[in-house]
Formats: sequence, C-alpha cells, structure tokens
Amino acid sequence: MKDGNFLRENNAKHFWQPMAHPAESLANPPVIVTEAQGVRIRDVDGHETVDAVGGLWNVNLGFSCKPVKDAIAAQLERLPFYSTFRGTTNDAAVELSWMLRDFFAPDGMARCFYTSGGSDSVEVALRLARQYHKIRGEGGRTKYLSLKKGYHGTHTLGASVNGNANFRTQYEPLMPGCFHVPAPYTYRNPFDESNPEKLAQLCLAALEDEIRFQGAETIAAFIMEPILGAGGVIPPHESFMPGVRAICDKYGILLVADEVVCAFGRTGDWTGSRHWGVKPDMMCIAKAITNGYFPFGAVMIGEALAEAFEGDGSGKGSIGSGYTYSGHPVGAAAAIACLHETERLQVKDNAAARGMQLHEGLLKLKERHELIGDVRGGHGLMCAVELVSDREAKTPADKKTATAVAKAAYEDGVMLRVSGNNIILSPSLIIEEADIDKIISAIGTGLSAAS
Ligand code: PMP
Repeated sequence: MKDGNFLRENNAKHFWQPMAHPAESLANPPVIVTEAQGVRIRDVDGHETVDAVGGLWNVNLGFSCKPVKDAIAAQLERLPFYSTFRGTTNDAAVELSWMLRDFFAPDGMARCFYTSGGSDSVEVALRLARQYHKIRGEGGRTKYLSLKKGYHGTHTLGASVNGNANFRTQYEPLMPGCFHVPAPYTYRNPFDESNPEKLAQLCLAALEDEIRFQGAETIAAFIMEPILGAGGVIPPHESFMPGVRAICDKYGILLVADEVVCAFGRTGDWTGSRHWGVKPDMMCIAKAITNGYFPFGAVMIGEALAEAFEGDGSGKGSIGSGYTYSGHPVGAAAAIACLHETERLQVKDNAAARGMQLHEGLLKLKERHELIGDVRGGHGLMCAVELVSDREAKTPADKKTATAVAKAAYEDGVMLRVSGNNIILSPSLIIEEADIDKIISAIGTGLSAAS
C-alpha cells in the first residue's frame, strides 16, 4: 500500500470524488480508509474509529462478514461473469431470484429485475411504470410525482424526481413531467404544522391536490422513500404511507417504494414499506443487498405488474432496460450469502433495539446542547441530528459547524457523516450497545468542541 502523503497528494490531483467540489480535497483532505473490521474502520495514519455511517448505509452486516466474502471468492473462481441478457442467464442470479421472491412476498412482490445499484433501480422502476400503463392502453400516464427532500440517486430520471435542489440545479433542465409535493417533515414544513399526524394529513391533501391539478390520467407513478434518508432522515407519521397507498389506488397511480436504504432490516423491519404496513407496486433495492461488498441492485415487481407484463400478447411487455452487470453472478452470490446471514442473525431486531438506544441518547444530548435543533429517529438504525445556530429561529447551522462536530468526533473515535446541517447516523445493524454509547458520547464531544 502507498503511504499517506502519496495517497493524499494523488487523491487531490487525480480523483474527482462524488458529491464534492474537485478543489475541496486540497484544502480539506478526506479521511483515507485502508482497513475495516466489524463496525470499525482504520485510516491510513492508523487512527481507528467506530463507523457510525455503516459504509454508506449499506454495510449492514459489518466489515467482517466472512460468509459473504467467501461466497464472492468462490463465485469469482467458478464463474466470474456471465450475462443475463435474453438467451442466457446464470445460476447465481436464478437462485437469488428464488430467494428474493420469498423475502419480499409479504410486500406483495413477485418478480425481480437486476441492476448495478440504487440509481439504476430507480431508473428502471420509473421506466417500467410508464411501460405498464402503455401495455394497459393508458400511454398518457407519463408523469412522476415525488416528495420534496426525497433522494432517488443521480441518474437523470432519479435527479428529476429528487427533492433536493443541491442535486438538481447544476444539471437542469432535467426530465419534464416530474412534480414534487411537500414531505411530512415535522421540524420544517410549509404548513407550519408541528403535529406529525396533522402534518401527514396536510401532505396527503397536497398530494391529492397536485394529482387533480395535473390530471390523474397523466401520472404514471409516485415514488417515495418509506423513511426519507439522505434528505435528513425524516420518518413520516405512521398514517402517511398508507394514505399515499390509498390515494394512488384511487387514481390508478403506481406506488414505487425506494427502499435502497430502508430494505433488509434498517428500519427495524425487513422493509420500510412493511414497517408502515403498505404493499407498494414496485420496490427499488440496492446497498445492503450485498452488504456493500459488490455493486448490485434490483427492482422488485409486484403482482399487478407481473400479470400485465407477462400476460401481454402484443409485445409491449418486452423489456428494453438492462445493464451489462444485471444479475452479475458475483453480486448475486454475495446477495445470496447476505440474505442467509441477514435472516440467521435477525438483524432487524438488533436494528430496532440499538436504534431506540441511539435515538434516546441523542434526545438526551439535545437537552444539553443548544446546537441541536432537532433529533430524528426511532425507527431502527437511521437517525439524524439537525444542527442550528439559533434554536428559536431554527436557523440552520453552517456547514463549517457540522464539519467541526464531525472532526472532533472523529478525533474522539467515531466517524460521522455530515449532510448540509444534518449529522446522519446509519451504523451497521450488528452494532453492539457499547459502540452506540461511544457514538453518542463522541457526538457530545463534537458538539462541545463546535459550540
Ligand atoms: N435511492 C435512495 C433512497 C438512496 O439513498 C440512494 C443512495 N444513497 C439511491 C437511491 C442511489 O443509489 P446508488 O448510490 O447506489 O446509485
């Protein structure tokens, strides 16, 4: 391995990192991670920290999951690649499809379509939504609705339904026909409503109003994260997603659940939709499907779509989407091992218990630290701490403050993730009680240092 100075210098010179200004790494060099075990990572200078980010909300089973590593090695040895484009398939992809069918059956899912990651899954699901309506003779249904604050990856369709200007403005004009409605974000919302249940009703009314305004017959799908993740971990009131389902049914609009973060136990249930008791029409999955060890994703397809596509005799159901790496055998082998481990360890239960501990610890920190405006969580291992410079006025803290918190926490032994004025917490689902305590105390250290 090259030494720290070489890596820092060449990172700044040659590597444009995602979601960063190309010049930033000169002034503010990133942490260069070189090793990881369990829930801990070690940087190039040998500094070890608890990873409160869980890779990028994907390493649900931690960094040392041997069954997944072994499955990847064995698959590389036996069949490192074979395409699943029409005419061929591979055994690992088939076996995984059979397993996913069982895993997602309670969500009403019947089929799967493989992709290389979350952005691909969103792209495919939204395309399939249009195609579904065409098959059924409703080709006028082309528009998409989504939530402000939602995150759906960075392909052009995903960016178009994305509800955060930071991922949109540089690339506009994006796809026409994409419209956004308010998210049930209790801390800040256009209705000035602080009661989560009432806010959910107001947001549902706004969704229905938008559907009537656009004309239901022009709308293909509504896409949402069951718990908004990258937008700052925003769990809706429990009435929200069931309400969305009812509205979609009323107007013949497909409901796409973007489960890229939520699926596989993160919310304390096996999927975010199940957490709210909702069966969507499609689910986008990626991230933890391979524990982050291999780029892989899928769209899970519900019964109604399966019937429409498979029963179509006109050729309109022929799928014009696909990636070289759709159903990659190494990714599929990793996913098979992951599913076995996920179920064997029942990680959703630990996510629920440790998530509660984390949420309670953060609420206690809020009593002591004026910098905290809002703490969100309570549904598995996804929490956010929103920082403000003035609690009364809810003035968002600047990026410098959030970065200072994260820097001091890192020195104290915990890696945090900063997104705008939020600190986002999404550790591996196998994390133990003592490490959650460590995360809480390091955030406290960070807050004290930044105050
Ligand atoms: N959807 C959601 C909800 C996500 O959180 C993400 C990634 N954070 C994506 C889609 C995009 O996934 P990927 O980065 O794997 O393309």
